[in-house]
Amino acid sequence: MQYLNDIKSLNLEELKVELKAEFKDIFAFRAEQIYSWLHEQNVESFDEMTNLSKELRENLKLKYEIRNCEIEQKLESQLDETKKYLFKLNDGEFIESVLMKYKYGYTVCISTQVGCSMKCTFCASTIDGCKRNLTPSEMLSQVYKIEKDNENIKVSRVVLMGMGEPLDNFDNVLKFIELITDKKGKNLSNRNVTISTCGIVPKIYELIKLNPQFTLSISLHAPNDEIRNKLMPVNKKWNVDELLKACKEYTKATNKRISFEYVLIDTVNDDPEHAKELARKLKNILCYVNLIPVNEVTENNYIRSTDQKIQNFKKILDDAGITTTVRRTLGKDIEASCGQLRRTR
Ligand code: SAH
Repeated sequence: MQYLNDIKSLNLEELKVELKAEFKDIFAFRAEQIYSWLHEQNVESFDEMTNLSKELRENLKLKYEIRNCEIEQKLESQLDETKKYLFKLNDGEFIESVLMKYKYGYTVCISTQVGCSMKCTFCASTIDGCKRNLTPSEMLSQVYKIEKDNENIKVSRVVLMGMGEPLDNFDNVLKFIELITDKKGKNLSNRNVTISTCGIVPKIYELIKLNPQFTLSISLHAPNDEIRNKLMPVNKKWNVDELLKACKEYTKATNKRISFEYVLIDTVNDDPEHAKELARKLKNILCYVNLIPVNEVTENNYIRSTDQKIQNFKKILDDAGITTTVRRTLGKDIEASCGQLRRTR
């Protein structure tokens, strides 16, 4: 894998190899210093690496780029402590991330691509397509910048549920997870990293081979192909049965529960019949379901289900023995779901 001069995307071993020629016998020591500045101390420039001489820092500057996130806009919820960030990348592209505070600590929702090419009809991130993949360093920078901007809080969970389709940027996402869980970096527990996917089935099988310890979340949103084809074009390539088969394999191989996300849209997928069909389909899968009232987006006409219908839907799944939660809406007053800020900039 090549990240050229993108120094924050290198793991410690790769960094040592990089620095060998320049630092001769103390290359390992230098690599540890630089790695710690980047991944433990959240510095954003070589000039902040004060235990390196000026000459050294100038040399590094000539060779390497540190990819950062600049805060273009920040919205803070008055209802809870949710903060939504619009970040500007080194090349001028924009992405979004969200900080959420829960009882057990801080969670950051990060983007994995600039835009998205999946074309889910309810989603704002995909309207202009996918501009490019994010590098591991750009995914890390979202977390690092948010820690820094909030008096150096320690983020304990990361969810890959912002803009983009993580499994469409497979290698970079895996490298990101390697780096964010590295003991010499942020040392997050693998279990506290969640990948969310619209269902790129061959990539789910690739994941199974890697015996992943992170959490997998599937954006299902419909109990059958007829509805799912309308909401998610990816379903025309890999349909509900193929997707659920892969999910079953995943739970068998990893012994880990999968979480299914289901956005509830008035009259589209929220009838009791839909809930019953969903319960039948998920019956033999080690999973739980997360119901999400759809966030209304100006570019489409989808309407949020009523609270009554949401509770009915949940009850049908609960009664069928499927653990179901309704997602607590954080940052309701700041449109904290991704894709909308970038569009209205
Ligand atoms: N591409 C990945 C991750 C990004 S989307 C995926 O599809 O899972 C993250 C989650 O937000 C998905 O479950 C997605 O379906 C959901 N989402 C997108 N637009 C939404 C909206 N308008 N309201 C509620 N949830 C939405």
